[in-house]
Amino acid sequence: MEYSRIRANFERHGFTTQLFSTKEAVCSYLADILQNRTIGFGGSETLRELGLFEVLQEKNVVIWHNKIPGLAVRKLASCADIYITSANAVSETGEIVNIDGTGNRVAMTAFGPQFCYCVIGKNKIAANVSDAYSRCKNVAAPLNARRVGAKTPCAVKGDKCYDCNSPSRICRIISIIERVPLGMKCEIIFVDQELGF
Ligand code: SF4
Repeated sequence: MEYSRIRANFERHGFTTQLFSTKEAVCSYLADILQNRTIGFGGSETLRELGLFEVLQEKNVVIWHNKIPGLAVRKLASCADIYITSANAVSETGEIVNIDGTGNRVAMTAFGPQFCYCVIGKNKIAANVSDAYSRCKNVAAPLNARRVGAKTPCAVKGDKCYDCNSPSRICRIISIIERVPLGMKCEIIFVDQELGF
């Protein structure tokens, strides 16, 4: 993975970037810089695999609907100082692509707390925006649909998107962040390991 080129592309688009080789190093980095803050988490297997909630809640208030499900908790996270999430995919050319069912992550990464951190395992990196979108639809969404027990064709068959019209369709809002939104700061934290899906 040519991280130097990928990081340069994101930095050209206004993001700051970090690169770590292990998930433990990511947790240590964030635990050092985040203390006495209110932190909202996006729904994320990556964050769960990092064990980041447990690490950060020692010295912060962490709001995460994976721990207390419901829309109210998602709305509460919008009042946080900091937002931490992953993404369904990023492009080597420096864009973030996400698909949401409720839209909380799309909203929070575009018009959320002033500072957003986005933790990205190497499996989330696609060559360009088109490939990143395809990854969202044909890899991340079917696995997420299966994870939440959605009765969608992608969850049942598990191989690709069928562009369904199921009531439990999880693909309802798509965002492509091409540049850091005005008024926000966003850091991409690359981890040279497979994390989440
Ligand atoms: S549109 Fe439907 S079939 Fe396609 S990934 Fe989303 S939930 Fe699955």
